[in-house]
Amino acid sequence: MDLDRWLHEATLTVRQWSDGFGPYQPHSALDVADEDFAPAFAEFAERLRDNYPFFHPRYAGQMLKPPHPAAVVGYLTAMLINPNNHALDGGPATAAMEREAVAQLAAMFGFDTHLGHLTTSGTIANLEALFVARESHPGLGVAYSAEAHYTHGRMCGVLGVEGHPVPADGSGRIDLQALEAVLATGRVGTVVLTTGTTGLGAVDPVHEALPLCRRYGARIHLDAAYGGFFTLLAGADGPEGLPPQPWRAVAQCDSVVVDPHKHGLQPYGCGAVLFRDPDVGRFYLHDSPYTYFTSTDLHLGEISLECSRAGASAAALWLTFRLLPPTLQGLGRVLAAGRRAALTWAELIDGSDALTLYQQPELDIVGYFPAVEPAALSAIDEASARVLAQGMTAPDPVFLSTLRASADAFAHRHPAVRRDTDGARILRSVLMKPESEQHVHQLHTQVEKLL
Ligand SMILES: *Cc1c(COP(=O)(O)O)cnc(C)c1O
Repeated sequence: MDLDRWLHEATLTVRQWSDGFGPYQPHSALDVADEDFAPAFAEFAERLRDNYPFFHPRYAGQMLKPPHPAAVVGYLTAMLINPNNHALDGGPATAAMEREAVAQLAAMFGFDTHLGHLTTSGTIANLEALFVARESHPGLGVAYSAEAHYTHGRMCGVLGVEGHPVPADGSGRIDLQALEAVLATGRVGTVVLTTGTTGLGAVDPVHEALPLCRRYGARIHLDAAYGGFFTLLAGADGPEGLPPQPWRAVAQCDSVVVDPHKHGLQPYGCGAVLFRDPDVGRFYLHDSPYTYFTSTDLHLGEISLECSRAGASAAALWLTFRLLPPTLQGLGRVLAAGRRAALTWAELIDGSDALTLYQQPELDIVGYFPAVEPAALSAIDEASARVLAQGMTAPDPVFLSTLRASADAFAHRHPAVRRDTDGARILRSVLMKPESEQHVHQLHTQVEKLL
């Protein structure tokens, strides 16, 4: 699609709508002359150049990429009106879009009932899920894998509940035996599972953890902030297809978090939390003397901890889903390309003398490190940091990221590496752009050249 054309259409559309309310005089206090705007904008544009090229396949670092043009147009058009999805009084159209987009997410996970909403981020979405967990299992703690996002331990502190980190196994998945031992203490009311850890995209065995948690009466929260949309590839044909069992079990979890601003093609400011039991809405009960006037229907602010939220985020997601719905043939094709890119790169690294694969990628995140001789943690750490820095300043630059692996985690996977410090940075590439698929051989060559 022609972004320039549709950005123009965005301003026209909103102007036509505004014109329907009759003329009025804009206040002179807000006047800015084009002659004054021009130098300010020039300075602004110059400052924005200080960025990494997230859009380009040579950027193979962290979880960053620009939104889809459909999301940009949806966001900007709605932003010109600036609805607030807190209440139907603040943005009836975008509140309805939010409910529809959230229903599509619920359907994607196989929830037959749901209550949910968008949030500003995965962090806030997880906070809400843990808040509901605390309210429904008062006095009990929360268990999460050592590889879970740091937010879980932190939010346990915020919520005043006891956090129980559970060791991960040699693939970065929650260790079920260790989980059972924690559950057996009787102090855990909720277990957090992760499908797609932030570090390496490891997928916890939801289908195996589920019966275990149920046996101990524990609630299950699934943090699928990064990996959630990969459920579209569960059982799919071709190399990108994922083992379906953990994803099929998601429908039985009590709550799920997914970040459309990661794999849903959205700009930042778009997370989502879904509860399987709509009845948990009772934990959010509050009185707002300022809002909730125009309708007796449910206002999204009545079921969220945040108050003001961008209606534009819902607009962007809704419009994107109209064109690239959360189905295998829609958004699934985008994820499949990244998944295939990760598999191809893993194969290239496996056949390389210069690089070693840290572990086989489960989604689209590849972990690897320079094959130093003699292999020791301190040398791997130093070489990874050097490749990261040199990659960015090379004449033909490549942008990677690093991940710190503990000595224990390393020993699980590479027992021959000498343990001369308590851990090492490895290289990490998140291949979340479909363009990575065509670029992966080039990436591999570029990285090899840095060694
Ligand atoms: C990114 C991420 C989060 C945090 O989400 P934000 O949107 O960055 O706040 C939480 N959990 C997992 C697994 C993530 O990948």
